[in-house]
Amino acid sequence: SFDQRVANFCAGPASMPTAVLQKAQAELLNWHSSGMSVMEMSHRSSEFVGIASKAEQDLRKLMNIPDNYKVLFLQGGASLQFSAIPLNLLKGEADYLDTGIWSKKAISEAKRYEQAGLGKINVVASAKDSNYTTVPSRDSWQLNDNADYFHYCPNETINGLAMFDVPAVNVPIVADMSSCILSSPIDVSKFGLIYAGAQKNIGPAGLTLVIVRDDLIGHANLVCPSILDYKNQADNDSMVNTPATFSWYLAGLVFEWLLEQGGVEAIYQQNLLKAQKLYEFIDQSDFYQNPVNKDNRSIMNVPFTLADSQLDKTFLAKADEAGFLNLKGHRSVGGMRASIYNAIDLATIEKLIKFMQQFEQTSV
Ligand code: PLP
Repeated sequence: SFDQRVANFCAGPASMPTAVLQKAQAELLNWHSSGMSVMEMSHRSSEFVGIASKAEQDLRKLMNIPDNYKVLFLQGGASLQFSAIPLNLLKGEADYLDTGIWSKKAISEAKRYEQAGLGKINVVASAKDSNYTTVPSRDSWQLNDNADYFHYCPNETINGLAMFDVPAVNVPIVADMSSCILSSPIDVSKFGLIYAGAQKNIGPAGLTLVIVRDDLIGHANLVCPSILDYKNQADNDSMVNTPATFSWYLAGLVFEWLLEQGGVEAIYQQNLLKAQKLYEFIDQSDFYQNPVNKDNRSIMNVPFTLADSQLDKTFLAKADEAGFLNLKGHRSVGGMRASIYNAIDLATIEKLIKFMQQFEQTSV
């Protein structure tokens, strides 16, 4: 039953809007009098092609995607794009900015193609010196003006480190927006390619979104698997093979829900408020801490530590009991993390703060 749903702060797969799940439940056995579930439909059927193209149109509306960009609904997660990007775009050199664990994963995957002789991968700057709490200043980046692209991750899901301005660079910008897509308005025309795993703000896992400018399509290296070739996918409406049909359909329901909420600008205002309240509470407390430089604090993933890490286990157990789930930080950094994507509303944040307040009072 829907009134038994918990507050789920998982980083991904993440909480879904309840209204979306209710709609999916109502349509599960018999979609629009088709007599079948969407998951049983041929991806070539007119019903599914309609569902797929409506999802794309709604996303285009939400993100104001210009006509000279293709929207691809792929599989393999954001992680497979770490390979697909160099395989499609790398000719000579590519620039990468290291701001955290996901940037590093993208870099190490791209370096495999450097080793294989496909091109050179430059790390232009790293946030390592600040222990990934501050983005290195733009002046310090060792950029190459002839790079094929510049890659960065505007929202590092694990470290909670964010970049809100699109970097001023002279080459096509490639951005891993897995954990921030649709959380705030962006100017798509400033990017060459945007990609995101679906399982945070888009829908169920199994779907990967790629938004790519036309001129970057059609240059894949010969060794690029045809399924990863953006041109092949664009020419075939992301149906080179069987796509993740049910995830695609659910993404479409999330896009409809987001439009009903007033679109990305409206949800952004909510997201700002949510993050502001939580950080304000953490900052005024001596018991909770967030180490990230204030200008780089993610509005989607809020990591925090307790003054005494011996209390971590008790905190998590009490949170579970109170219906606040998945607050444990990533295993690589420890502590806690509240992922507060679009589906988490302000009232839930207020309840979380109250819980944290009470825990602090009973622990000091
Ligand atoms: N990039 C970022 C910023 C992420 O947060 C994640 C997953 O959490 C990934 C990439 C990897 O995504 P996937 O599991 O879809 O490969």
